[in-house]
Amino acid sequence: MEYPLESMEPRALWGYFLALSRIPRGSGNEAAATAWVADQARALNCPVTRDAAGNVLIRKPAAPGREAAPATALQAHVDMVCEKNEATVHDFLTDPITVVRDGDLLRARGTTLGADDGIGVAAALAVLASPSIQHGPLEVLITVGEETGLTGAKALQAGCLRAANLLNLDSGKAGFITIGCSGGLDSQAVRPVALRAASPGRSAWRLKVGGLKGGHSGGAINQGRGNAIQILARALWALMPFDWELAAVSGGDKRNAIPREASALLFLEPGREPRLREAVAGLEAETRAALGAFDPEVAFTLESAAPAVREVMRDQDARAVVAFLFTAPHGVIAESPVIPGLVQTSTNLAKVATSEGAVRVAMSHRSSVASSKVAVADRVEALAALAGFTLGRGEGYPGWQPDLESPLAQRVSAVHEALFGKPMAFRATHGGLECGLIGEGHPGLRMVSFGPDMWDIHTPDERVSISSVAQFWTLLGAVLEELASVPPAGA
Ligand SMILES: [Zn+2]
Repeated sequence: MEYPLESMEPRALWGYFLALSRIPRGSGNEAAATAWVADQARALNCPVTRDAAGNVLIRKPAAPGREAAPATALQAHVDMVCEKNEATVHDFLTDPITVVRDGDLLRARGTTLGADDGIGVAAALAVLASPSIQHGPLEVLITVGEETGLTGAKALQAGCLRAANLLNLDSGKAGFITIGCSGGLDSQAVRPVALRAASPGRSAWRLKVGGLKGGHSGGAINQGRGNAIQILARALWALMPFDWELAAVSGGDKRNAIPREASALLFLEPGREPRLREAVAGLEAETRAALGAFDPEVAFTLESAAPAVREVMRDQDARAVVAFLFTAPHGVIAESPVIPGLVQTSTNLAKVATSEGAVRVAMSHRSSVASSKVAVADRVEALAALAGFTLGRGEGYPGWQPDLESPLAQRVSAVHEALFGKPMAFRATHGGLECGLIGEGHPGLRMVSFGPDMWDIHTPDERVSISSVAQFWTLLGAVLEELASVPPAGA
């Protein structure tokens, strides 16, 4: 059965999406795609400005008779996550995405599709091209670097938008409207450790914790999964009677990922191994029982090691390091009082590394409440001081505090109800969104986010529902017309 791409509705939106899919646009490599976006806007006689970061801002005058309406901004990010299946041959710097239609689903052949957020970009361009939508003054903001730390939104000039309302088009669940997100702040704790020679006659062993699920520290922090660093630290603490000497401890990968693996390089007195193995097996069984179905594959391994140097941390330094890793907070700190089930504040004990006579620990804290994010960093700093670490922190990025009474969200939901017979479900994310940063630079700007149904974004299984894109387009047009009508009293 052939499913031609050309027949997909709405034609204009899909035309832009398919054209954009031909242009490589991984994060950091957006120049050709942003130039293409600017060209499309100019071809429609819409003025374009670009900033140093590469963000594109387009303006379109109101439809006749709607000039007095408040301006609305449409916002989407042009960059995409580049992931492919191992067997797929694809160069994300040069090759177009091969788009495949499968019934109502659109996917790519062996790679990410880039519907996140190519659909948002295509929808915004299709609005610029639309002769029929009766919108007020329009702004279209296309950002770069969203998938790698919101770098485009971070670089945005405060006050660059004139709009009163912003519709962020970077959402993957039809029928839902996003009204809030978390802010983030990173901390790094550093402690110098004095080294000495390992005691004579000792042998080296590597104790590893692995097999954990990990996951994104925004989306998975409340799912009960094990933290490899914390589990390893707990084991080292419990194994103190074995009088280990610690050479190095390491684990974790990215700041926004729950660590799946961690290991420690230990020196042990001869003859200790059999009893240690027993103890490690006991700890493994205990940990597995405690994590249960949340993380059933957790595994400890103890293997002989042959390090190039026989240096270990001074005892008091090793103990302080292990104590800090064991006690440093990880997980949910507070739930949202506004949206049931939403995490309001959390922290991720993300990464530990030993090198050049120092142990470095990276942590990332999140909250939709700015002061709570700082409070977690302060708490870690206090603990760090007790253990002889010094703490540095990043600049962080702001959150977007959810407001169930948001008049913009109420209006969008009412339009949805009039069109499709049911109101939208209000949601917020514990991840970061560009709205947090845009809102910080535009006090008073009302924002919501919505989009069509997508699944498994950021993976080669990414797919989008063609029919839900059509509904999204209908909703978007109707919302723009609603916002260009006389605002309701009191709003
Ligand atoms: Zn996105």
